[in-house]
Amino acid sequence: MNNYGSDNISVLKKELSNFLAMEDIENDEEQLIDYKLNVSNFVRSIKCVVYPKSVSEIQSIVRLAGDKKIKLYPISQGKNWGFGSKLAVENDCIIIDFSRHMNNIRKVDCSLGYAVIEPGVTQEQLANYLKINNTKLLLDVTGSGKDTSIVGNILDKGVGYNNTRAEILLYFEVVLANGELLSTGAIYNNESGYLAPYTIGPDLKGLFTQSNFGIITSACIKLRKIPEYQKSFVLLLKNKISIDSPLIKLRELKQDGVINCVTHAFNNTRIKSISKSGSFFNHSWIILGNVAGIKIKAKNEAKIINKALKPYGTVVFFDSFRIQLIRKLFGIVLNKNLKILLNIAETINNFNTGIPSSDGIKTIFSEDNPDNSSSIGFIFLAVVFPVDISSINTCINICNKRSKEFSAEIAISLNLISEYCLEGLISIQFNRLSKSETKNIHNLSKILLNDFLDNKIAPYRVNINDMECLFTRDPHLSYWNLIKELKAFIDPNNIISPKRYNV
Ligand SMILES: Cc1cc2nc3c(=O)[nH]c(=O)nc-3n(C[C@H](O)[C@H](O)[C@H](O)COP(=O)(O)OP(=O)(O)OC[C@H]3O[C@@H](n4cnc5c(N)ncnc54)[C@H](O)[C@@H]3O)c2cc1C
Repeated sequence: MNNYGSDNISVLKKELSNFLAMEDIENDEEQLIDYKLNVSNFVRSIKCVVYPKSVSEIQSIVRLAGDKKIKLYPISQGKNWGFGSKLAVENDCIIIDFSRHMNNIRKVDCSLGYAVIEPGVTQEQLANYLKINNTKLLLDVTGSGKDTSIVGNILDKGVGYNNTRAEILLYFEVVLANGELLSTGAIYNNESGYLAPYTIGPDLKGLFTQSNFGIITSACIKLRKIPEYQKSFVLLLKNKISIDSPLIKLRELKQDGVINCVTHAFNNTRIKSISKSGSFFNHSWIILGNVAGIKIKAKNEAKIINKALKPYGTVVFFDSFRIQLIRKLFGIVLNKNLKILLNIAETINNFNTGIPSSDGIKTIFSEDNPDNSSSIGFIFLAVVFPVDISSINTCINICNKRSKEFSAEIAISLNLISEYCLEGLISIQFNRLSKSETKNIHNLSKILLNDFLDNKIAPYRVNINDMECLFTRDPHLSYWNLIKELKAFIDPNNIISPKRYNV
């Protein structure tokens, strides 16, 4: 790899300036500080950052990188907090940042219910567009900040409150390593081809998530109709009951088509971290979910869910109307704890109804960009396993054992992403100012990943430091060998996001 050391970075800049505006190339150390600063205290060097304005500029960047063997690392908004933020897996990449210019909503089809967006488009931007233009459509949002991207989140297989993000994807437009432009679902250049990814021929869109096969320049995503009826619900689990039985019940409700969202089960550490004082939440677990659709159907589903979950604890249904009513009626007499509770309920209900916000982030970090938080360090590891009693308890036991050993508070969220699987989202907070604690927690993250692999629990989403552990221990070698061969074929100079997901 040509590493364009400090002497010839000016040569690289000159070459880039043949097709990029000078102000869209940054390499001053001071300018790069923001890119290196990250909530997980990962450390990487960066060659420079570029901000392309168009697909043709990206094609030029890729062709130059191919010629000169330069490593590229595209980011959409770079808010991959807990997994690496804006940083590449390898040192010395050129970061291609789409947040500055490539943030256009190219199209919204109000009758079919889809949007074509560029990578820099944020959750808030699209949600506002849908509202202001009275489209009667909504975006399924994640619990992360309102300024996070939709495309970057899909590319790391993020999870929203009603769907996994990969499920809302219809097609990608991609610049390949040779500069060619590809559309993943296009047959005969006909819109129906784009909208039906499972028509003739292999479906290519899956090749581009959690990999490094191309640079995504736009995505076509599904939107949801604003439902006629909607209620959020929470189950406050009785303390003597373990979390496995209600999760199995939720799986059954999902199999029956009664649950149509991603339910989130938070352990006590997770609850405390979002409620800060936490004194009013002594429950070992809470479960959150959403019921929405046409009134006659969704109302009935709410009744069925209520009846099914009641044996496990207190079930409360709420919506924005109820939250506002309580505030209006009892505003002055509400104590601090109830106010916090109502704020959390409102944040959750907003997520369920497609209103992105940074309130969830702020409950942990007091500000909306965790990378800027002064002392709180944060790292994520996500795994996936079948919704069965043994796997649920294996996941929890591994976390509990290591939590004690490392004196670390491990927050767990068990998210029902399908009728088959739970995503176990494990987050660990630490003191970012302490070098030894940072080292300890980075080490814990790797150990946890290996524990999960030892127990046949698969990784789902991995931070940039732990990617090197992937597939070295996977017995399913034919899968990884094919991925490697594809990478070598599509990107022979290995210029796009080298080593992302260890590919
Ligand atoms: C408290 C908290 C709560 C969170 N809640 C959630 C949640 O509910 N759900 C969830 O999914 N995440 C959550 N996150 C994690 C994270 O913040 C989000 O996933 C966020 O959406 C990722 O950042 P981004 O969208 O800016 O993507 P980016 O950081 O821009 O992209 C992610 C990765 O995708 C690749 N990539 C990006 N753009 C391109 C491109 N154009 N071409 C090729 N590759 C590209 C890069 O490898 C990049 O590192 C949470 C984080 C915190 C701290």
